[in-house]
Amino acid sequence: MAVAEFELIDRYFKALPGYGRGVDLGIGDDCALLTVPAGQQLAVSIDTLVEGTHFLPDMPADQLAHRAVASCVSDLAAMGAEPVWVTLALTLPEADEAWLLLLSEGLGEALQRYGLSLVGGDTTRGHRTLSLQVHGWVPQGQALTRRGAKPGDGIWVSGTLGDAMAGLDQLQRALRSELPAPDPYLLQRFYQPCARIALGQALRGIASAALDVSDGLLADLGHLLKADNLGAEIALDRLPYSPAMLAHYDAHQAQQWALAGGEDFELCFTVPEANEAALAAVLCDLDVGCQRIGRVRAEPGLNGHIQDGGSVVLQPQGYQHF
Ligand code: ADP
Ligand code: MG
Repeated sequence: MAVAEFELIDRYFKALPGYGRGVDLGIGDDCALLTVPAGQQLAVSIDTLVEGTHFLPDMPADQLAHRAVASCVSDLAAMGAEPVWVTLALTLPEADEAWLLLLSEGLGEALQRYGLSLVGGDTTRGHRTLSLQVHGWVPQGQALTRRGAKPGDGIWVSGTLGDAMAGLDQLQRALRSELPAPDPYLLQRFYQPCARIALGQALRGIASAALDVSDGLLADLGHLLKADNLGAEIALDRLPYSPAMLAHYDAHQAQQWALAGGEDFELCFTVPEANEAALAAVLCDLDVGCQRIGRVRAEPGLNGHIQDGGSVVLQPQGYQHF
């Protein structure tokens, strides 16, 4: 490596801004020493991005850092947890300093955005891979989980669906010179998805179950329903789309990406009817809209309702590695 391992860690990772909450000892020793406040549980999740599988070799490193952080922070959002610490295992074929500088800049911005401190990691040589482990706090016993939905509960999603896949499509079409430039909004939704942290925390005590949409709405909602052996009716005409999606794609394509696209990192959650007023009240204070797209039912399986009153059986589908 052009730059020695420890110099690299000092230069690109140790100096990153940190909030320092609960950090008794950060980067530089054999372990970080961390304190979880009394009355809180530690929520932990890890995500790995492999070049060629999760990102293209020419993805700008700062955007890669944003997406990597957002995708794992989104798991904390889904549990109603507050992001606090992150560790990074980084594997690189070589110490490309321009790439590392950009990664470190993007990482710094993303950490600041979510109030995270980088407290440690590991740096190795090999196929380019980023593993981020996030740690968050959630008041004891109040985490939102995939279990808990009941027949009759509304099924809700935050934001708009399908934008990340549309952004990727825009990027690929621009690379093939089929477009002068990708739509900036959709590209942003692909590169810098927004983990719904404030929403997740606001849903504690209101939602009966929750998860984030990483593999695709049908696949992820399928996990939530399966946890309690339930099914759902989905109103397909209520799926939320962004204006940019509707400007560039027809309704069929938008629906396809909304149901099966994934990577949007929006929250999907269930709310008992009795909690809908409380939900409306907390949504007033948040910068993200939420839409009720269906209802939980006792009978397993997913049905989609279309505007003319017809019904189709929906197959859970989404990306699977194996
Ligand atoms: P050890 O050999 O004891 O496991 P390392 O030499 O791997 O320790 O790491 C030295 C210090 O630098 C540790 O505190 C570790 O957490 C931190 N570190 C290593 N790589 C990274 C990285 N990519 N990002 C953040 N911290 C890192
Ligand atoms: Mg050691």
